[in-house]
Amino acid sequence: MIKKVVTILCFALSFTCLNAQTIKRPNIILFLVDDMGWMDSGVPFGDSSYALNKIFTTPNMQLLAKEGVKFTNAYATPVCTPTRTSILTGMNATRHGVTNWTSPIINNSTDAKDDQFSGANWNLNGVVINSITTYPQLLKQAGYYTIHVGKAHWGPAGTPMSNPLNLGYMVNIAGHAAGHPQSYYGKDNYGNIPNKASYQAVPDLSNYHGTDTNLTEALTLEAIKSLEAPIRLKIPFYLNMANYAVHVPIQPDVRFYQSYLDKGLDTANAKYASMVASMDKSLGDIMKFLTAKNIANNTIIIFMSDNGGLSLSGARGPKSHVQNLPLRAGKGSLYEGGIRVPMIVKWPKIVKPNTKNNQYIIAEDFFPSILEMAGLSQTTTLQKVDGKSFVPYLKNQNLTDSNRYLIWHYPNKWIDGDGPAINYTSAVRKGNWKLIYNLRNGHTSLYNLANDLGEYNDISKNNPLITKQLTLYLKQTLEKNKSPMPFYKSNSKMVEILID
Ligand code: CA
Repeated sequence: MIKKVVTILCFALSFTCLNAQTIKRPNIILFLVDDMGWMDSGVPFGDSSYALNKIFTTPNMQLLAKEGVKFTNAYATPVCTPTRTSILTGMNATRHGVTNWTSPIINNSTDAKDDQFSGANWNLNGVVINSITTYPQLLKQAGYYTIHVGKAHWGPAGTPMSNPLNLGYMVNIAGHAAGHPQSYYGKDNYGNIPNKASYQAVPDLSNYHGTDTNLTEALTLEAIKSLEAPIRLKIPFYLNMANYAVHVPIQPDVRFYQSYLDKGLDTANAKYASMVASMDKSLGDIMKFLTAKNIANNTIIIFMSDNGGLSLSGARGPKSHVQNLPLRAGKGSLYEGGIRVPMIVKWPKIVKPNTKNNQYIIAEDFFPSILEMAGLSQTTTLQKVDGKSFVPYLKNQNLTDSNRYLIWHYPNKWIDGDGPAINYTSAVRKGNWKLIYNLRNGHTSLYNLANDLGEYNDISKNNPLITKQLTLYLKQTLEKNKSPMPFYKSNSKMVEILID
């Protein structure tokens, strides 16, 4: 039995549940990809189609974009767990304090060692579960059948946050503490190899062990199977379809790999592109299933990635920070390459098909948006929700808000040796202004994204007032939310934001 259905109470009391369904609620699927960059698609999220868009073959993303709206300014945080926690709770990372990715091991900081700073006091075991109300809990209470499939990564093994069944999900397939699979290959049992299994061995999929079934395919098949019950019972479902792809290990999907070699890609790019194609097939298979079951018209699909594309040399080729061009840098960075991600929403009869929206939105907005889509705007939560629903932008294309502030905070060390806006960095966006603040030395840089998407032209000296305004917003927000900050090793003092 692969599915773990823990809450059958609803079905035992199905009359009550069905009564709760007198309001026709839509099915909702969040198709969350891991580490997929803004450019890793045949769908251009920029103003035009760039060279990288021509590498990737993603017909199902293209179909979804044709049937929905693509958001060109959708943001995550620079790494996995902070984004996933923001989606789950509606809180910005400055508030939930899970500013870095969580280790599979409890009480273990994933920060790299540093000469200048000792580690920030971030929530390395995930948020305190009793302090939050998750949206899957609220959906479940409203009669939704809630399913998690794939990568979870909300907290270390042994913590309540590591288990999706504690977070409002009635079904969990293959989600646990790890942030990536040990292997994408069925013939490797997805890492469940006697005496060789690591924390990253993927649970639950033993039916596929020893077969040629790629992990992405196995998850998709199981996700589709898990939808049979709510469809049969005529109750709405929420599916958190969180593919492990396209995170490392970069292991080619043999169904697609050769076609990219034939197109002339080098092996690194062909391997990665085959994983993107595998992810795209997963999306397409789910869309076809919805159509076959005649429920596509009552199912919302939200496509999103949890951070920018990996841009370190090695698995992604010989050169660093070219993988997300024209965006600068990649995963781990607060430059756009690390945080701007592909996003598409299909909502039949509500969203105008084949449109795009340039409004900037961020991961914590998913919480109120999903609840509003489900007709559950008036809910109370234990935590203060920072996110704002993007549903108004789905209903009215002409709506814009250039006064809103977005904030990112990474008081952590991701890699040895600081890269471009990687390690100990915060950032603020308002309108087209974007400020990057270096926590090591208080250096600020300011960019105008309207004419400098690549963030190469620091105009802070020419714009002292806006630089000060954004820096002040950063300082006040971090202080108000008691956000984690690094400490100087030299005097044990906490880093403070400096205002010129
Ligand atoms: Ca990720």
